[in-house]
Amino acid sequence: MTRSGSDGNTEVREFGPAGETTHGRAPFALAPALEGELLVDEGSRQGCATDLGNLATGMPGAVLRPRSARDVAAMIRFCRDRGITVSARGRASTTFGQTLSEGLIIDTRSLDRIHSIGPSTAEVGAGVRWKDLIAVAFGSSPRLTPPVITGYTSLSVGGTLSVGGVGGLAGALHTGLQGDHVRELEVVTGTGEIERCSATRKRDLFEAVLGGLGQCGVITKAVLDLVPAPERARTYLVDYTDNATFFRDLRTLIERPGIDHVYATLQAPGAGATHRLNATVGYDPPGHPRDEVVLDGLSGTPAVGDTSYLDHLFTLDRLVEYLRGAADWDHLAKPWYDVWLPGTAMEDYVAEIHPALTERDLGPYGISLIYAQRRDLCTRPLPPRPAPDGSPWVYILDINTTAVVPGPDPGYAEEMLDRNRRWFTRARDRYGAVLYPIGSMRFAEQDWRTHFGAAWPAFQAAKSRYDPDGLLTPGLGIFPKTPA
Ligand SMILES: Cc1cc2nc3c(=O)[nH]c(=O)nc-3n(C[C@H](O)[C@H](O)[C@H](O)COP(=O)(O)OP(=O)(O)OC[C@H]3O[C@@H](n4cnc5c(N)ncnc54)[C@H](O)[C@@H]3O)c2cc1C
Repeated sequence: MTRSGSDGNTEVREFGPAGETTHGRAPFALAPALEGELLVDEGSRQGCATDLGNLATGMPGAVLRPRSARDVAAMIRFCRDRGITVSARGRASTTFGQTLSEGLIIDTRSLDRIHSIGPSTAEVGAGVRWKDLIAVAFGSSPRLTPPVITGYTSLSVGGTLSVGGVGGLAGALHTGLQGDHVRELEVVTGTGEIERCSATRKRDLFEAVLGGLGQCGVITKAVLDLVPAPERARTYLVDYTDNATFFRDLRTLIERPGIDHVYATLQAPGAGATHRLNATVGYDPPGHPRDEVVLDGLSGTPAVGDTSYLDHLFTLDRLVEYLRGAADWDHLAKPWYDVWLPGTAMEDYVAEIHPALTERDLGPYGISLIYAQRRDLCTRPLPPRPAPDGSPWVYILDINTTAVVPGPDPGYAEEMLDRNRRWFTRARDRYGAVLYPIGSMRFAEQDWRTHFGAAWPAFQAAKSRYDPDGLLTPGLGIFPKTPA
């Protein structure tokens, strides 16, 4: 099922061929009665056999489309009795097998109900896409929004809460991660118990599930913060060719009162601008932002745009939708590299990595992104972040590479996975980087222990308590089973 990588310290996840997994399909014939569906046909299983990265594959024995936490609990108990592994799958937008299992896949898209919207919270099924919650909350009176919104919003609530959820288009400067804005969760553990947990109730479970990569339970519902939403968004784009000037202006903008959000993109060196700042101010007419205040002291000539806040939040969704049609985006290999950097190291790290970045490192439809996150507003133990360095900021750097054409290309996959590992080892050892595990990184068991660092003992204790048989989410190899 797994094999060692060429450096003896890495793993590539491989699962058995279609219909011939060690768990097979036969055990599911005895599955309990469910409100939802249990699918064992080839098409349904094939549909959950890879992810957005198209680098790791694993044919499940069955796919559950639950209608309730009871369905999830019944199937987890069923699988536990038989030693069958179980993975939750949201939109499978992670890129290296994070959602795969050769046993049961819980396809949470069917947990798609927005149960309630109140004045400051929403209770939603784990399979609800952020874009659907955003649309409903924005349409309510008064207008509301989640405080932290990822760049792409066609992601499931359960999926982003399980990785952390960095504010790619809203939040981050004045908020924590999405996981910091969860009031309560309904979780089905690896023993098949349905639990409600929060910061004051079963806190160990709550903290092991938020940012916990599906290791200790399956989120079935979440109670999320909502805040007032602005009606419109004004955006300011400023281009740079010089790393130091870019970082000077980035630091100015993230500290400037009145700025709601800032992200940046990097292009490979060549002709033209290489770094672009993108700042946003939300507002309610007839008021409006004072451009001269927002832009005071910045270098370069900004382009100013103005749109409805909702349109602004769906910017990346429109781009992805376009690429789906134009470039078969879903089927391109995506060896994504995603890391946290300490605030004091970010400029130096980009100064080192950026000049060597090639067109191939990005690919024709790839993108490189920088997000600044206020450190002290991240209150949960997970996901792990860089050690404190005196800066109030931590940064995410994404180099979201895509292949040129769809289809398997083992040589390309190997080259890019080696690249990611090389980049990561250097970034960790020299700059104190920490993996943001949404991308494609070969990590062995010891790498995961190092990754979780001080959070490891509590995380391991939660795993032993809530998934004692190690059934849940084996795709990353965080808790590999010891051979009998
Ligand atoms: C275009 C694009 C833009 C992105 N922008 C951002 C961004 O701005 N900020 C950011 O933080 N991330 C961003 N991401 C990454 C994204 O947050 C993660 O890939 C996230 O996991 C996607 O959600 P999903 O529903 O696809 O999760 P999946 O890929 O389906 O699952 C991710 C992990 O969570 C587990 N899981 C899923 N659902 C549950 C559940 N209900 N209970 C327990 N475990 C579960 C899975 O087993 C898996 O280990 C982006 C991704 C894309 C494709």
